[in-house]
Amino acid sequence: MANTVLFDDGEHRNILLEDFDPGGAAVQANQHVIVHDAQGMILDPGGHKVYSKALSETYALLGDSQLRYIFFSHQDPDIVAAMNGWLMTTDADAYISRLWMRFVPHFGLDHLLSERLKPIPDEGMLLNLNGVELVILPAHFLHSTGNFQVYDPVAKVLYSGDLGASLGMDYLKVTDFDEHIAYMEVFHRRYMAANVVMKAWANMVRQLDIEIIAPQHGAYFQGREMVARFIDWCADFHCGVDYITELYNIPSA
Ligand code: FE
Repeated sequence: MANTVLFDDGEHRNILLEDFDPGGAAVQANQHVIVHDAQGMILDPGGHKVYSKALSETYALLGDSQLRYIFFSHQDPDIVAAMNGWLMTTDADAYISRLWMRFVPHFGLDHLLSERLKPIPDEGMLLNLNGVELVILPAHFLHSTGNFQVYDPVAKVLYSGDLGASLGMDYLKVTDFDEHIAYMEVFHRRYMAANVVMKAWANMVRQLDIEIIAPQHGAYFQGREMVARFIDWCADFHCGVDYITELYNIPSA
């Protein structure tokens, strides 16, 4: 499977990298690259199994452009495990929720590199990629307590991290939403925090002009209608603490 171009107007490109580790015990994970002219950003670059391939592919895509940012949506190993390598081999600044600043260095972040790891405040922020203001949106508890998504206003792509993740199907782009629900449901039911958070997220992103929602695992949603269906599905979805208290019983033989 080759790279997938989500957007390209000659100056601005959004690329979903080829899947470098299909199958196996590790969960499938997507790596996305945004390039605007002379600068680029990688989102959720992945762990050690894909590090060298993701790095060389990113360099190939960047060409003469510079990797400006590394974005970590949250602290999970499939996202941050290779952070030391990425910071060591590039000049990029890395961004992660302030909640995880003192935890992720346990993945083995060299002291000298740690000043290039920057905190994202709870309310989110804008990141200027060579003149384009990328919007770092709060998405806390979807699923991580300190969790962010990226909205690219040029390509109109919302990078949704674990929200919208799907597992086990063999396609890259959702064509039948109703059939696709089965691949998302189990994961979202247990990992996402609660319907109240899903609703808050839906209300926030309905204000954005979105052409594509691209999760960190599985297939992406393209087109206004498909995007709206996914957002509506989230707004009505019950999960996490809506159900979990009934598990609070002492296990017995
Ligand atoms: Fe995660």
